[in-house]
Amino acid sequence: MSLPANKTEIRLQGIGVSPGIAIGPTEMFGKALEEPEHVAVTEDQVAGEHERFEKAISLTREQIQALQKEMEGENEETSAIFEAHLLLLEDAAVLDEVRRKVEKELKSIEWSYSIVIRRYVDALRKVPDAYLRERATDIQDVAQRVLKNLRWPDGNWQNYELSHENAVILAPDLTPSDTIAFDRNQISGFATEAGSPTSHTAIMARSLNIPAVVALHHFPNSLAPGDQVLIDGYQGLCILNPSEKTLEEYEVVVEKEDKLLDELREYADAETLTADGHKIVLSANIEFTSELEDVARHGAEGIGLYRTEFFYLDDENERTEKRQAEIYTKVAKAVGDQGVIIRTLDIGGDKLCPELLDHPEPNPFLGWRGIRLSLDRKEEFKSQLRAILKASAHGKVRIMFPFISNAEELIRAIEILEECKDELRAKGIDFDEDLEVGAMIEIPSVALIADHLAKYVDFFSIGTNDLVQYTMAVDRVNDRVASLYSPTHPGVISLIRTTVEAAHRNGIWCGICGEAASDLLMTPVWVGLGVDELSVGAAQVLRTRRAISKLDTGACRELTEKIAGMGRARDVKEICRKMADTAYPDMVR
Ligand code: PEP
Ligand code: MG
Repeated sequence: MSLPANKTEIRLQGIGVSPGIAIGPTEMFGKALEEPEHVAVTEDQVAGEHERFEKAISLTREQIQALQKEMEGENEETSAIFEAHLLLLEDAAVLDEVRRKVEKELKSIEWSYSIVIRRYVDALRKVPDAYLRERATDIQDVAQRVLKNLRWPDGNWQNYELSHENAVILAPDLTPSDTIAFDRNQISGFATEAGSPTSHTAIMARSLNIPAVVALHHFPNSLAPGDQVLIDGYQGLCILNPSEKTLEEYEVVVEKEDKLLDELREYADAETLTADGHKIVLSANIEFTSELEDVARHGAEGIGLYRTEFFYLDDENERTEKRQAEIYTKVAKAVGDQGVIIRTLDIGGDKLCPELLDHPEPNPFLGWRGIRLSLDRKEEFKSQLRAILKASAHGKVRIMFPFISNAEELIRAIEILEECKDELRAKGIDFDEDLEVGAMIEIPSVALIADHLAKYVDFFSIGTNDLVQYTMAVDRVNDRVASLYSPTHPGVISLIRTTVEAAHRNGIWCGICGEAASDLLMTPVWVGLGVDELSVGAAQVLRTRRAISKLDTGACRELTEKIAGMGRARDVKEICRKMADTAYPDMVR
């Protein structure tokens, strides 16, 4: 494929969060732009910055006039709003101030414009007059348009309808609901400026089997919708306008991957055993029932984590008890004897449900999330529990409570579950009387009292995504601190060891269902610590099974003993890499 003459290849390094290679035309997506970066310009560049500004203002004017025209005669009020937007856009005081700022401070037009706008907006927000306060939103709306036109000067960003097959979505950031909204058959990859490996968007990209790279920081202004882009989800690379040479190189990478995938197919029907014959249960995580086929195809031994909040966020109609029971029953029947662990709703954090939140929280990850929300909304919680119980009559179902931070929450959740069982018994509705109950260990406070909690449950499942976040005080969705986020931190591994040992001392089993369960560098650690189950994205099952088959339990135990004496994540990573490189060099990148 040849490149348009004026397009040169640009490589952006981010974090690969979903493996695979995607090549396709870019689709720009994004409701709001991040605040522009503080970019310096030279005196020679000032004239160019002015010119870009004039063009962006004039393009914005045309766009607003077009919208105004569309509304004329149909909706006079909206047409009047656009009239006001035109006045705001052309405000001479603002435009002059921006131009002067570029000249005096030698900063990019985007940065100068956004600083001036922010000052006006902040000032307006403080005035007592409600009408004037409202104008702040209009100013922001107009400013967003100008900023987008600065970044994408052909104005194509306006078209959010996917206009290409096989599109690669490029966005400042994507929320889990944005990700759900795309037609996955039309998409070949995701690339975002923000984001981190354990954001739910990344998890969803993995579960949808779509290559994705996040934390790319800033897409260049020259990028236009429709430009070709290559996403390397293994190396975390986003290559804009790839050259012929790059495309040829990637043909080889794709070939090698295809070869490995062929070999991995042999593992689809195999048991999950270490080289010395130690059994580990290998299950899959799912978010949607549409993934059931993948779970079977990849030979997972059941579902170790069903994140029920996704259908809940996706569709209000799915929230009734009847509909939930139907969905859970479908999953229970599909997995049969292998079983599914259904996790009760874990709304909150980055999975916000606007209808439930009457006001935004300052720290959603430390706020009204998971079991806290369920215990406060008892009737809805009970209807989910009854729906799960009903499904347990049709296949092996286990239930698990998320975000447990103290024993009281777990005990209360179990009491409510017992109430639900009584209600079903009274009505003669079937359910599994031996249904197993588990607690997620994803907050350090409960890892440290695991011995106590083990008395109330049949199993633990360690959620490393949150355990790392809450142990290290690293927001899992903040790309600025993404490099600090480290499952190989010896403190995190020590909490996992404490949890596994407490489980075994109390005669219950312990699994891991966070993303670290499929991190092949860490597989030797999980084998060495004696973890009983690993639950990974369906697409990771075969790789994980093959990795386990190459490892020796004794050697892995020695490795974890060494880790117990270490203080630095980097050292842990290095000895893990050595073992993984020796055991399965073709799968470590
Ligand atoms: C986890 O925290 O590791 C986990 C599996 O749950 P979630 O990613 O849904 O928070
Ligand atoms: Mg979690």
